Amino acid sequence: MKSMGNFEDLEKEVIEKGLCTHCGACISACPDYNIKWGLDDRPRRDKAKGMCENCTECYDCCHRVQGHFINNKINKLIFNRDQNEDESFGIYKEVVAARAKDKEIIKISQDGGVVSAIGLYLLDKQLVDGIITTGKDQYWKPVSDVVTNREELLNSAGTKYYIAPVLKMLKDGIIDMELDRLAVIGLPCQIRSARYLQQRETDLSYAITYYIGLFCTQNYEYKNLSEAIEKKGLKMNDVNKMDVKNGAFHTYVNGTQLKIPLKETKTWVPDFCKYCDDYTAEYADISIGSQGSDEGWSTVIIRSEGGRNLFTELIKANYIEIKKIDDYKIIDTNSNKKHQNVLKIAI
Ligand SMILES: Cc1cc2nc3c(=O)[nH]c(=O)nc-3n(C[C@H](O)[C@H](O)[C@H](O)COP(=O)(O)OP(=O)(O)OC[C@H]3O[C@@H](n4cnc5c(N)ncnc54)[C@H](O)[C@@H]3O)c2cc1C
Ligand code: SF4
Ligand code: SF4
Ligand code: SF4
Repeated sequence: MKSMGNFEDLEKEVIEKGLCTHCGACISACPDYNIKWGLDDRPRRDKAKGMCENCTECYDCCHRVQGHFINNKINKLIFNRDQNEDESFGIYKEVVAARAKDKEIIKISQDGGVVSAIGLYLLDKQLVDGIITTGKDQYWKPVSDVVTNREELLNSAGTKYYIAPVLKMLKDGIIDMELDRLAVIGLPCQIRSARYLQQRETDLSYAITYYIGLFCTQNYEYKNLSEAIEKKGLKMNDVNKMDVKNGAFHTYVNGTQLKIPLKETKTWVPDFCKYCDDYTAEYADISIGSQGSDEGWSTVIIRSEGGRNLFTELIKANYIEIKKIDDYKIIDTNSNKKHQNVLKIAI
């Protein structure tokens, strides 16, 4: 079903209201290459290029135009059924703990290296031609990319806080790089946006063959986090790792660790996260996070049939090892919290 909006409506209804999740889908959707990622971190239309007559593509492709609640059309598309009320973290087949077997991946990855191991398997077995990932610049600002080999993939390992417009890379991958089959690795909002493109049967969405999601409670504005870290006398280009655990934001620099209590990071959370009800990438084929697992292991939620087949192949091919998770109530609790928070907000 076509709606009646163009880029100006997208600006009014989504971008200027702080609802835009920076997914970049509208950039890929524009047939005339009118939209660019602005230096101010938002989609901008190049007015010199045309006035969008009779076109509604960007508006139609934006997952935020349609609101933010559980999308049963997407559930039907992936799982062939609606989500039940007691499925607080989405529809799934199994939850396990896992970690990569590759020693290099273990060394450089954020947690158990399962995301990188999945990516490596997809490339090694030629199940995809490329993978849309989020790497970083030298100051740890996230940068979206399309990777096609081991070296590039491993360069994107590790968690970068803040967000890059990953789905703008769909067009780069398919049109500029001429790749036919792509996997997308992304945050819950990015996976949701990619699935929305699939549900709307947009041209570029046919190339996405695997949707690999990360858990995400909330994100942090790059400007705020980098200023806070530098105020403490550290340089962003010396950072080795960042993570969030035990109620604090940690930054690791050459053997030292800076700990900022989460209550001091409240103002860093972007507006768009306040409207997000998805903790575990509920529309991914496989979702991966750290919560619920021991240090150095990942928590893996296997959701779709395709996700289960892929994960089984990964175990057989010795790319990962798995163990049982006894208690994953924390995932339930955090998912419920996100659903409840959003239900309280009227946009
Ligand atoms: C902003 C953010 C918030 C998170 N919050 C939680 C949380 O609350 N609870 C929890 O359990 N887990 C959370 N995670 C997930 C966790 O940090 C790990 O990404 C996950 O456990 C996978 O670890 P891994 O060792 O398998 O990944 P790796 O093998 O190290 O691979 C990491 C992958 O993540 C992708 N990536 C890195 N940064 C970004 C980014 N900014 N946006 C999109 N993709 C990115 C890269 O493309 C890379 O492929 C969060 C991740 C991010 C990026
Ligand atoms: S498609 Fe994505 S980047 Fe574009 S306006 Fe919507 S949420 Fe923002
Ligand atoms: S040409 Fe279409 S897709 Fe591109 S900016 Fe204008 S309305 Fe959006
Ligand atoms: S909290 Fe939601 S909107 Fe914010 S980055 Fe995470 S998944 Fe995206």
